[in-house]
Amino acid sequence: MASSPAALGKTPGRSSVSTEPSAAVMGTYGRQNIVFARGEGCWLFAENGDRYLDFGSGVAVNALGHAHPALVAALKAQADKLWHTSNLYRVEGQETVAEKLTRLTFAERVFFCNSGAEACEGAIKVARRYHYVSGHPERQRIITFRGAFHGRTLATLAAAGNEKYLEGFAPEAGGFDHVDAGDLAALEAAISPETAAIMLEPIQGEGGVRAFSPEDLRAIRDLCDKHGSLLVLDEVQTGVGRTGKLFAHEWADITPDVMAVAKGLGGGFPVGAILATAEAAKGMTPGTHGSTFGGNPLAMAVAATVLDIVSEPEFLEGVRTKALHLKQGLSGLKDQHADVVEEVRGAGLLTGLKLKAHVSPQQLVAAAMDEKLLLVGAGDNCVRVLPPLIASDKDIAEAMQILSRALSRVAREVG
Ligand SMILES: *Cc1c(COP(=O)(O)O)cnc(C)c1O
Repeated sequence: MASSPAALGKTPGRSSVSTEPSAAVMGTYGRQNIVFARGEGCWLFAENGDRYLDFGSGVAVNALGHAHPALVAALKAQADKLWHTSNLYRVEGQETVAEKLTRLTFAERVFFCNSGAEACEGAIKVARRYHYVSGHPERQRIITFRGAFHGRTLATLAAAGNEKYLEGFAPEAGGFDHVDAGDLAALEAAISPETAAIMLEPIQGEGGVRAFSPEDLRAIRDLCDKHGSLLVLDEVQTGVGRTGKLFAHEWADITPDVMAVAKGLGGGFPVGAILATAEAAKGMTPGTHGSTFGGNPLAMAVAATVLDIVSEPEFLEGVRTKALHLKQGLSGLKDQHADVVEEVRGAGLLTGLKLKAHVSPQQLVAAAMDEKLLLVGAGDNCVRVLPPLIASDKDIAEAMQILSRALSRVAREVG
């Protein structure tokens, strides 16, 4: 039986949802058996009244935490006016958000979509189309990096080339060449007259919080310029303040030609965007791309508010200060739990603990959850620590205490 939304969260201790997950939901996730009813700031409240410190942020999405008053107000105000008109007409909110994004970044053109995968797939289309209209239709191939994650559509799966995610979905979309991150010689060797673009996440998120060094990013930018390829950045996870700059590539003092953004942009409302220079976007003329829902007025109202808050220099400065405390806390935990933790990784509030080989990320995520702290697993035997950007120093200190208990628990389990 479906429970009425009004009942949720108002009857702590009295569960109105089934104790078992419904088989009617396609079983594509190994979900934790918990239903959250309400959120506030960094905290989530389960249906039974239990309170969890959310240091997963819905996988780097809830940049401003849960139920941020400004976001709630923006969504409610827009909901009273207009939900959807389609892209057959001008959408005021799109023009507002696109102007903000072009003012704040390298970009001169923005296309709105609904998710990270769509933004990545669209970025690939922009890159191919650029060469096509430049008289080089043969430049179709995109070089990507092993360990990448660009989404779950057929093209973005092929882009990342992760065999586990591709299994059973043949034929694999063509046009992608994969190289090892950090191997610049292999990268240059992979560039051919058919290379349209090099595409990468400045920090691989799902792949295990593995960062490209600023030097490598600058070298890759130079390689693109030398060979006439476009640089496509996937900042779906690293963007919108997550690393303490509005976008992670700013740390390396480079700019891409095309960039995919999503996750934090809507603070929990689904929205994605493709950003590009005017030159890179020159082929994106009427009829070349589209989306029924992309840039819907509700999404735009929320995204405009997120950007106004996150792009404030003091806000980003605050993220960098908090990030320092988080990094210090995690480094302390690594020293304290050297039998479990191998390495602290990441930048800003996109951090991860790489665990020793005899410990699995699932074990630590489960132990932390038992202690009422939410974390997110990742590849390369990593657990991600992704607090909302609004987390206070007190929240971070509390998370470190809980995480210490969880690590002790894991050490006992495996010891
Ligand atoms: C999450 C993610 C995606 C996919 O986003 P969806 O909204 O799940 O489609 C793509 N790239 C990166 C770097 C991501 O972290």
